[in-house]
Amino acid sequence: MELMEVREGSARILVPKAERIYDAPVFYNPVMALNRDISVLAVSVLKPGRVLDALSATGIRGIRYALETPAGEVWLNDISEDAFRLILENARRNLGVEGEMLGERRFVFRGEKTVVANHDDANRLMAEKFRYFDFLDLDPFGSPVEFLDTALRSVKRRGVLAVTATDTGVLCGAYRQACRRKYLAEPIRGELCHEAGLRILIGTVVRYAAKYDLGVEVLLAYYRDHYFRAFLRLRSGAKKADRSVSMLGYLRQEASGRFEYETGFLPERLPSHGPLWLGPLKEQRFVEETLKLAEKKALAHKKTLPFLEVLAKELDLPFHYDTHALARRNGLQVGKLADVIEALREIGYRATRTHFSPTAIKTDAPFDAVLEAMKPL
Ligand code: SAM
Repeated sequence: MELMEVREGSARILVPKAERIYDAPVFYNPVMALNRDISVLAVSVLKPGRVLDALSATGIRGIRYALETPAGEVWLNDISEDAFRLILENARRNLGVEGEMLGERRFVFRGEKTVVANHDDANRLMAEKFRYFDFLDLDPFGSPVEFLDTALRSVKRRGVLAVTATDTGVLCGAYRQACRRKYLAEPIRGELCHEAGLRILIGTVVRYAAKYDLGVEVLLAYYRDHYFRAFLRLRSGAKKADRSVSMLGYLRQEASGRFEYETGFLPERLPSHGPLWLGPLKEQRFVEETLKLAEKKALAHKKTLPFLEVLAKELDLPFHYDTHALARRNGLQVGKLADVIEALREIGYRATRTHFSPTAIKTDAPFDAVLEAMKPL
């Protein structure tokens, strides 16, 4: 494998040289530096003791957790032999300490922090380390569903689960049968598909967690660069689980773009999309702390800070209005987004931009008021 060195955050890591990222024997995607930046910030704010990077590839994520956060014990795991060898090499270069093999598939570096490189199926490792990790990161190819059950048993009952999903085509309704199979949910097509996809993903974790009497609170969840990411705080107890399940529900949308949603175990009317999470997509204090830290810290991706600023300002209500889609659906002209937001604020509604689309707004205004605000004066 031909390698080259890249710098990301405080880490210098070797990654395979390849024409296209998916051809490389070990996966490294520089675009995901933003995902890793936000994860490093989240771990720094949350200060977990034990962290697992369950699907580690080059080791970049776990190595950044070890170098840039207060975490005391970090595990880096991958099923691939090539990845494991590269994780070992990268950990050696960055940690600057020697270590020892424990058995055939585990290597422990003991320095200021304990870093464990592990070569196994993530499900097997997570089954072995029952209720062990304070922060567990799932960053798979495609859907995280095949790892969810063991992850929810390996993370502590008050721990944090961080999940990436790159199967946006599935969650956004391009492959409806796959969404039914993997997430037991009905997706939606059109301008609401990304937010609905993120909410289907969170709703799935809520349903998986509920059987262990675990509730879920969303610290931060977002869509970006064709992937979804959610930081989910677990809460222990049947009542907490019931509360989370009570925040699941369904979405309906008319041809005009008007939408409605309802919480409930079953939909009141059909066709409905879901089940999906209808609770908050962020804890404002957590996002503000993350943003404050981002302002001080050297980040790897130039878009991390402005993206966090958008997330911090965004109104946290289910679903949004995409002005381009509404104009198309209702035969209107597309005006400036800032003018629509201003017009709604002037008549007393709350309205902000949303990270889901550069042409969309989140507002508590009713559909007709949004259409009115889009019409020229
Ligand atoms: N987290 C990495 C990062 O930030 O650069 C990227 C991880 S990559 C998307 C997914 C990794 O999961 C691959 O390296 C693959 O070998 C590994 N993988 C796939 N199935 C696995 C399994 N069952 N157990 C452990 N690792 C697995």
